Amino acid sequence: MKELTFAAVPLTLLLLVASINPPAASAHFFPNITSIPPSLIPNTTIWDAFNNLHGCQKGVKAKGLAKLKKYFQLFGYLNNSYDNFDDDFDEFLEFAVKTYQLNFNLNATGELDPSTLKHIVLPRCGNPDIVNGTSTMRSGKPSDGYSANSTIHTVEHYTFFPNRPRWPPGRTQLTYAFLPDNQLSDNVRSVFSRAFERWSEVTPLNFTETTSFDRADIRIGFFTGDHGDGEPFDGVLGTLAHAFSPPAGRFHLDGDENWVIDGDFLNSSPASAVDLESVAVHEIGHLLGLGHSSVEGAIMYPTISSGVRKVELANDDITGIQELYGANPNYNGSEPTLTPRDEWDMSGAPPRMDYSFLVGLFFLLLLFV
Ligand SMILES: [Zn+2]
Ligand SMILES: [Zn+2]
Repeated sequence: MKELTFAAVPLTLLLLVASINPPAASAHFFPNITSIPPSLIPNTTIWDAFNNLHGCQKGVKAKGLAKLKKYFQLFGYLNNSYDNFDDDFDEFLEFAVKTYQLNFNLNATGELDPSTLKHIVLPRCGNPDIVNGTSTMRSGKPSDGYSANSTIHTVEHYTFFPNRPRWPPGRTQLTYAFLPDNQLSDNVRSVFSRAFERWSEVTPLNFTETTSFDRADIRIGFFTGDHGDGEPFDGVLGTLAHAFSPPAGRFHLDGDENWVIDGDFLNSSPASAVDLESVAVHEIGHLLGLGHSSVEGAIMYPTISSGVRKVELANDDITGIQELYGANPNYNGSEPTLTPRDEWDMSGAPPRMDYSFLVGLFFLLLLFV
């Protein structure tokens, strides 16, 4: 794993970072966005060059399209056998763009219009939107009357991995551990604890931290660049993290991001701050079996802008995860809580019958006799 150098960071800031995270760790953490040193905020990020492709459509040739094809293959929009990585906008790329636009509720023009490009360059989860050629998200669903221009979401869009893998029934107590090399502080670990709590609140699942990394069900690590699983990270922004479907339990985060742990962005507009808890809640969704959702407000939506905090599960997320695991018996998001009367009923006592209506009926009959 690559050691990070802080040579350009002023000493005071270095000490601040070191106090949060020991120097041996391979990731940047900041208590809040104002503590991110300017030297760690890049002028451009890996996908910014895509903005030069404005207006491109089928039939044109433009420098940079080859790289865009790689992008679409990375996220499943061009299948793995596609290898025509030149700068020609071919029919396969057009189909990929249209599918992408459908998934992200954009007008499916097949053209690289401003709203599509604006979305393509957003930081996002490294997991593909389309797995094994099976389009999940919105493009893979039958027509549901959903309008691309509508902001009203009435249809669920949660998805699962192919074959719907999940943790086996009866395995409700799951353990997680952090890569020892990362030497994460208590503050950082508590961010993950809160993220797990979001999912345990609505399911019968429970998550406990263990120190045994190799034996934990879920293994969390910060890595930079190529880290051995064929899905290298890409520096600041671009892909932020990825996680494997159950029961693999592998959860990797890009150590090059400027991870912010307090989540309080106020109204500032940081160039590269990424809210750790928001990304953690999303990736845990994958670890439990959820795929990406087309619902923009859902945790399982694939992109998240820098400086944005999104940690509350949406109805779409809750419905999806409960379809896999059922609800937490104590979850009262939509169910009424037990009343003393309910508890009395559950004691096995026979229900009491109300006979007063029979008395009324008797006198009514007398009137007609
Ligand atoms: Zn994801
Ligand atoms: Zn990885």
